[in-house]
Amino acid sequence: DQTVCSPLPVLGSDVLVPLVTGGEVTYAALDYAASAPALQRVWDDVAAYAPYYGSVHRGAGYLSQLSTDLFENSRATVAEFLGCRESDQVVFTRSTTDSLNLLAAALPADCQVFVFETEHHASLLPWRNAQVNFLNAPRTPAQAVETLERALATRDPSPSSRLRSSRGGPIGPALVCVTGASNVTGELWPVKELAAAAHAHGARIVLDAAQLAPHHPLDIAELDVDWVAFSGHKLYAPFGSGVLAGRADWLRSAEPYLAGGGASRKVARRADGGVDVEWHTTAARHEAGSPNVIGVYAIASACKALTEAGFDSLVEREQQLVTKVLEGLSEVDAVRVLSLFGDDAPRVGVISFVVDGWNSSHFAAALSAEYGIGVRDGLFCAHPLVRTLLGSDPQDPGECGAPEAEPGERSLNAIRVSFGAGTPDEHVDRFIGAVK
Ligand code: PMP
Repeated sequence: DQTVCSPLPVLGSDVLVPLVTGGEVTYAALDYAASAPALQRVWDDVAAYAPYYGSVHRGAGYLSQLSTDLFENSRATVAEFLGCRESDQVVFTRSTTDSLNLLAAALPADCQVFVFETEHHASLLPWRNAQVNFLNAPRTPAQAVETLERALATRDPSPSSRLRSSRGGPIGPALVCVTGASNVTGELWPVKELAAAAHAHGARIVLDAAQLAPHHPLDIAELDVDWVAFSGHKLYAPFGSGVLAGRADWLRSAEPYLAGGGASRKVARRADGGVDVEWHTTAARHEAGSPNVIGVYAIASACKALTEAGFDSLVEREQQLVTKVLEGLSEVDAVRVLSLFGDDAPRVGVISFVVDGWNSSHFAAALSAEYGIGVRDGLFCAHPLVRTLLGSDPQDPGECGAPEAEPGERSLNAIRVSFGAGTPDEHVDRFIGAVK
């Protein structure tokens, strides 16, 4: 059934779960936005490599050499998958969160950061050592571009900088951080236009592609973004590995993200008793310690599988499911689908909604226990965005676990259904039937 639905079979799709109402069903994993099931192909590739496991960049032995080759070839595969420019670096990290924290640690002095309040916390919070400008939630993609342009055009001058604005004034380094597809609404953001706006004002841009990369073809050079970050576990690979890819200059001049073996080229005692270190200037600079070669190989395997399956057919298949879910939900009066850019805005297979009179956590628990359907409930690590979408106060630091909402009352959290490669029609049909 899986192969009929999608060219990419996934692991774990035939797990049986007992229901509180009696009987058993196969588990419908509709929480791809949190972690997507690994592809069978990824599992097979990793299993085939497992007996030859060796340390990377460390030994003369055959297994070490083999692992080093796999590791470095994986870097090349990821670079190709992302459409990297010749001079870009691909740094392996633990996750999108880790990638963005790495970039935050590599910002040049006096860098200003511009980020929409609608971002996932991984994009919103890492910039602790910079001056951060939080931009208000836009209501259309065009408004997002206007908001960014206005903020960049009026940013504080930096007298010590050699950079000049288009009007000739001195400006300091700046970074824009934006998501490609929202983890709450699934809506696509106007990345190319935002990149053009950033560059026109002397700023750089990093794309949080955690939700975009699994659902959409991605090309750094074509989008003209400076960096891209994503996670393996959302791209149909297992947990524990992620990627930061893009411009080498800031990364090369920054202090290593982690200090230790692998990042250092030469270490020597000084006559005064201290230690001199020469750090690598390649991606290894930020990859100290023994790397997660299995996780990295799994990401590369997923990139190859997605490319070979072809994004055209994956996107077409996923969009059929998006239409089916939206139509199904629209037939239930009590359901309100959440969107920032309007109900018809293009989106990936990530849809959040509330049900009038229901506590979202109870609703999600019932989907699991009574129908064997796994969805997510809460504020999805994007508290200001979800509060804006629910019409509650975006500044309210209240708890995620909301009290029971009475009919007609506003929900304080939401339910999210998400899917992608390998999702069979039956899972989506069961979900719609259960909501009804
Ligand atoms: N950005 C977005 C848009 C996400 O959806 C997520 C994960 N929910 C992250 C960043 C963080 O990813 P990770 O937990 O893998 O670091």
